[in-house]
Amino acid sequence: MAQETSRDVGPVVLLGPPGAGKGTQAKRIMERYDIPQVSTGDLLRENAAQGTNLGLAAKAIMARGELVPDDVVCGMVRERLSRPDCKRGYILDGFPRTAAQAGWLDALLDDKLFDNSRPTRAWPIVICLDVDYNQLLLRLTGRRSCPTCGRIYNVHFQPPRVDELCDLDGTKLVTRNDDRLEVIQPRLTAYQEQTRPVAEYYQRTGRLITVNGDRPMDEITAEVYRILEDHHA
Ligand code: AMP
Repeated sequence: MAQETSRDVGPVVLLGPPGAGKGTQAKRIMERYDIPQVSTGDLLRENAAQGTNLGLAAKAIMARGELVPDDVVCGMVRERLSRPDCKRGYILDGFPRTAAQAGWLDALLDDKLFDNSRPTRAWPIVICLDVDYNQLLLRLTGRRSCPTCGRIYNVHFQPPRVDELCDLDGTKLVTRNDDRLEVIQPRLTAYQEQTRPVAEYYQRTGRLITVNGDRPMDEITAEVYRILEDHHA
């Protein structure tokens, strides 16, 4: 689909359980509107791979499928959102994940990190991808990604043309460390217990838009684009 890079999209929050397709949709939004994807999971994994103090502290927690402490994640997000590429908007993928993070984000946006004088308002558009539990399990156990270009595949639904190799650059695909069955359950529990209240918080404040994520990716993407564009019509 064509790019729409003249729009100031503002902050977009993608909510939903692990495996709901947040990363895939975030990449598509990023390409269409030319705004960055800010994935706290990706930032934490990068830190872990680089061996920073933050990354080393987060690595063990992530391997258990638990949530990294709020202050660590919020500090990382603050730094990322202050960069110039976030001026026209950004997509938060995997953040906020606790009620405390959601409150922190509201305070940050109130604080005009995102420039309120512009026509786009600072409240995030919050889109929650809703996916059936059994479908989530298939998506998480089948997920593979390309370590070179970041493209995401699924061995059940969207396999690469050649087994285990990226269609775009031929790199061997990898499975995320926390997509192992024994870590998936604690991640889904963390979602139910800590992130569901975030969706309820946005629901109460009238900002939650729920999208049925149990459909083909392109259909979901078309609906997400419509939501974003209706908001700015
Ligand atoms: P994700 O890639 O979004 O599934 O995140 C992978 C892991 O990173 C999670 O299971 C958590 O351990 C950690 N993580 C990512 N985002 C957050 C967040 N907003 N708050 C706390 N932990 C997070």
